[in-house]
Amino acid sequence: MEASTSTSPSPVTTSPKEQTEAGNYFVANYPPFSFWSQEQAPMIPEILERPAPVDLPLGLYFHIPFCRKRCHFCYFRVYTDKNANEIRAYLDAAAVEMDRYANSPYQQGRKPQFVYFGGGTPSYLSVEQLRELTDRMKSYLPWDEAEEVAFEAEPGTLTEKKLEAIRDIGVTRLSLGIEAFDDHILEVNGRAHRSKEAFRAIEFAKTLGFQQINIDLIAGMMDETEDNWKRCVETAIAQEPDCVTIYQMEIPYNTTIYKEMQASGKVSAPVANWPTTRAWVNYAFEQFEKAGYTVNSTCNVVKNPATTKFVYRDSLWSGSDLLALGVASFGHLAGVHYQNHADIGPYMMMVDEGRLPIYRAYQTNAEERLIREFVLRLKLGQVSISHYQEKYGVDVTERFAGHLGHLKSEGFLTIEGDTIKLNRDGLLQVDWLLHGFFLEKHRSARYT
Ligand code: SF4
Repeated sequence: MEASTSTSPSPVTTSPKEQTEAGNYFVANYPPFSFWSQEQAPMIPEILERPAPVDLPLGLYFHIPFCRKRCHFCYFRVYTDKNANEIRAYLDAAAVEMDRYANSPYQQGRKPQFVYFGGGTPSYLSVEQLRELTDRMKSYLPWDEAEEVAFEAEPGTLTEKKLEAIRDIGVTRLSLGIEAFDDHILEVNGRAHRSKEAFRAIEFAKTLGFQQINIDLIAGMMDETEDNWKRCVETAIAQEPDCVTIYQMEIPYNTTIYKEMQASGKVSAPVANWPTTRAWVNYAFEQFEKAGYTVNSTCNVVKNPATTKFVYRDSLWSGSDLLALGVASFGHLAGVHYQNHADIGPYMMMVDEGRLPIYRAYQTNAEERLIREFVLRLKLGQVSISHYQEKYGVDVTERFAGHLGHLKSEGFLTIEGDTIKLNRDGLLQVDWLLHGFFLEKHRSARYT
């Protein structure tokens, strides 16, 4: 049990901007990444020398930074020009990194509860590369007890043979980055695939028996119209996926779109404004609900909530360890956040030198862990008050009385019995509202 007794931060104004300006607005972690530092990076090797923790779930994140083409809205460090030898060298380096973790006292006897392949484009790897990589991973940190193995895929990289290989290596959750079903929208926004490839991938994946097929959509992309968005939602429903993740378009600073805005002196991004984007996500939620789906977070609808689990999300948001492997990966060990080098050059160099390729880290304290778990779980739409009392010894209705009262008076949430619950309006703009729960020193208009 962890205790936190500091006073409630003062309420902040919750007035989301209308136009989509550049910046990261979605809250993915706490404290914000901009507070993580290179000075704290040596903490991770120190943690690895400690004895293995008891009963702390472990996850594994593996980052594949390669893509066929850079999407105009992409803010990740991705490589579109690497050949097979360079990819092999990268996978070899990641294996060395994995070996270092697996042989540390801190990992002894631990097996991953969940595994996540993110990117970039994990499905960019060939069948051979995939099999070799995962065989190696399993020999270092066996997955036989993993409750979830999630894998992100770009439809245009998926042949039937590759989808079979993805299933055979043990993937339970296949996440297809479809984003839109309209070829014009896909082209204008710089996506590498087209709708024909998306339909083919969904159809074949459904025959392979994955436990869960998710499709990603983005509301508010360049050139998107209301009619077109409605057709996109209808098409998505007709595919009967187990789960759909609907992102609201944001334009972070290191995107092609932002560079073009800068060059032409524009402040507003050429994408739908925030009220329109929220209205479109709301429309999608309503249509999916009519089709029998359940909204279970700010961006997810699921066909069957009883069987569709989100082990990665739920475990990580509750404070599990996450071992980050590969360039730019984010991890979390023993209460310390960390991120690997985001450029492949320094990443490979550090691994070659026998060092862990960690770029920055942040030691959280008990209060920050409470805030982190509170804000992240609010993105699910509701939280249990007693959960925080039991785990942290804190009454969150007192700890956050100021901002909760503010959100209540603005009509975004209710507090009934043990539950703090956002209404639909609150859920659709929860990321704007969460900053009021942050410590004063961590509040900033520009999140990262
Ligand atoms: S596929 Fe994903 S990671 Fe690759 S460029 Fe597009 S948005 Fe970025």
